[in-house]
Amino acid sequence: MKGITLAAGAYSASAIAMPSPETFAGSIQSHPIGKIGLEEHFMVPEFVEYLADTYQNISPALAKRGLEALLDFGDKRIEIMDQNRIDFSILSLAGPGVQIEKDPAVAQRRAKSVNDILAKEMQKRPTRYGGLAHLAMQNPKEAANELERCMRDLKFQGAMINGQTNGDYLDHDKYSVFWERAAALDAPIYIHPGNPIDHPAVYAGHPELWGPVCSWAFETAAHALRLVFAGVFERYPKARLILGHMGETLPLNLWRFDSRWPISHRDAMTLPQPPSFYIKRNIVVTTSGVCSDISLRCALDAMGDKNVLFSVDYPFEKTDVASHFMENAKITEAERQGVASGNAKRLFHLERK
Ligand code: MN
Repeated sequence: MKGITLAAGAYSASAIAMPSPETFAGSIQSHPIGKIGLEEHFMVPEFVEYLADTYQNISPALAKRGLEALLDFGDKRIEIMDQNRIDFSILSLAGPGVQIEKDPAVAQRRAKSVNDILAKEMQKRPTRYGGLAHLAMQNPKEAANELERCMRDLKFQGAMINGQTNGDYLDHDKYSVFWERAAALDAPIYIHPGNPIDHPAVYAGHPELWGPVCSWAFETAAHALRLVFAGVFERYPKARLILGHMGETLPLNLWRFDSRWPISHRDAMTLPQPPSFYIKRNIVVTTSGVCSDISLRCALDAMGDKNVLFSVDYPFEKTDVASHFMENAKITEAERQGVASGNAKRLFHLERK
C-alpha cells in the first residue's frame, strides 16, 4: 500500500472546505430556526466495552473526545443544543451495543436495562429529549415485545438497529414478526451503520475505508436494499425505515435501481412496484454527518421534501457545523422548515403527545 502523507493544513486548501467553528463566530445566521435531531448518541458505562468495537473504524482522537460527550446527559449537552437552536434531541445508544453480543439472554437483558436508563433521562427533560430503543435482534419476537414496551410504556419515538446481528440482516424471514409489530406500532426503525461479520477484500490494506469514509455507507445502503427487494415494504406498507448520512448514497441512484432491477439476476423475485416507489414511500433520510448543499438538493429532489430530516450525529459530528449548514443551506424556506423540524414532528407524531 502506498503511503500518502497529508501536510498539516492540507484540508484548508481543499476545494470542499471543511468550515471551522471559528468561521461562524462572526457570520450572520441567515435563517435561525428551531431544529429536531434524531441521530444523537449517548453512552452508559456498562456499554463502553461494545463501543470499543467501533474504535477499529475511527481515530483514537475522535474516540476519546466522543466518549466524554456521550456519557453526559446534562448541562453540557443541553448547552450545545441551546447554542445551536436544537429544541429536541431524539437520543440513541452509540453502537454497536448488543448487536455484537453473542449470548442472546445477555443481549436481551442489557438492551432492556439501557432502555430503562434512557427513559429516566427522558423523564428528567421531557421537552428536550426523546429516545430510540436499543433492541436485541437475536430474538425477533422478544425484540418486537421490547419495542412495544418502549413505545407504549416508555414513550420512545422508534428504535435504532446497528446493522446486522450475527450475520443476519433485517430482511430475514424470522424478522417478519418484528416488522409486523413495528408497522402496527407506527415505530420508525433507524438502521445505523455497523460492520459486517466478514472483512471484504476490497477494504484490505485500506483501514481508512473501513468505517465512515466508505464501508459503512455501502453496508447500510445494501441492508436497506435487501429490505426493498425482499418485499418487506410490500408486505408491511406502514413500516418506516430511517437512514442517516443523507441516505447512505441511495438518493443518488434511484433511477438506476429502477432501470437495472428488471434485467438483474433476480430469479423468481417480483415486486409490483419499482424499487424507487418503496424507497420514497417507506424510507426517510437524515442529514447526519453530511453538510453539503449538493447532497441535500439531491436528497430532497430524489426522496421528496417530506422525507429528509435534520440530524447532527452528535458527538461524532460538530453540532455548530450541522446547525450552520441547516440555517444557511440553499433551499426554499418551506423545505428548510420541513427538514429542520416539520418532517420529524410528522414522522414521530411529536405534537400529539
Ligand atoms: Mn451515528
